[in-house]
Amino acid sequence: MKTLLHTCCAPCSITCVDTLRQEGIEPTAFWYNPNIHPLKEYKMRKNTLVEYAASIHMKVIMENEYGLRKFIEGIYPDFDHRCGFCYNIRLEAAAATAKEKGFDSFTTSLLISPYQNHELLRRVGEEMAEKYDIEFLYRDFRPRFREGQEMARELGLYMQKYCGCIFSEEDRYTKKKKEKKDGE
Ligand code: SF4
Repeated sequence: MKTLLHTCCAPCSITCVDTLRQEGIEPTAFWYNPNIHPLKEYKMRKNTLVEYAASIHMKVIMENEYGLRKFIEGIYPDFDHRCGFCYNIRLEAAAATAKEKGFDSFTTSLLISPYQNHELLRRVGEEMAEKYDIEFLYRDFRPRFREGQEMARELGLYMQKYCGCIFSEEDRYTKKKKEKKDGE
């Protein structure tokens, strides 16, 4: 089976790829993440994936769009409920590309993260599967999240400190500030 693995970053892809390969499924990575800001961060994550994919002989399809304006327009003005839009644009692109290029199915490395809204992701994946008439290969990769992060550290891969959008970067500082305040 040929599956298109929407890939949010190299560290998250490690055990997703391994799990799929153990099942006899060869994934092709698909890079489309217009939610990652600023540009320096976007490039770091993209380049890390390209290098990592080459090291494990995995093909990559690149949709290289730094989508700051489109993303902000899409989530305005409800910045606190932004993840649905973010999942929609990425999984829609994955489903459309998988269909267009003759894959049997598509999936996403976002399914490995305990920090994502897993049920919403699943729902969006299934909606896109129906819309583009292609299978959404649902897997709960979460049990191997820590293992994957550990492997990424050992490999010396770039590890990001926030989810991706500029608001998640803001959350990181707000949280830190709150933790500091709570500890005072
Ligand atoms: S927090 Fe993460 S998933 Fe949610 S909108 Fe930002 S980048 Fe996307």
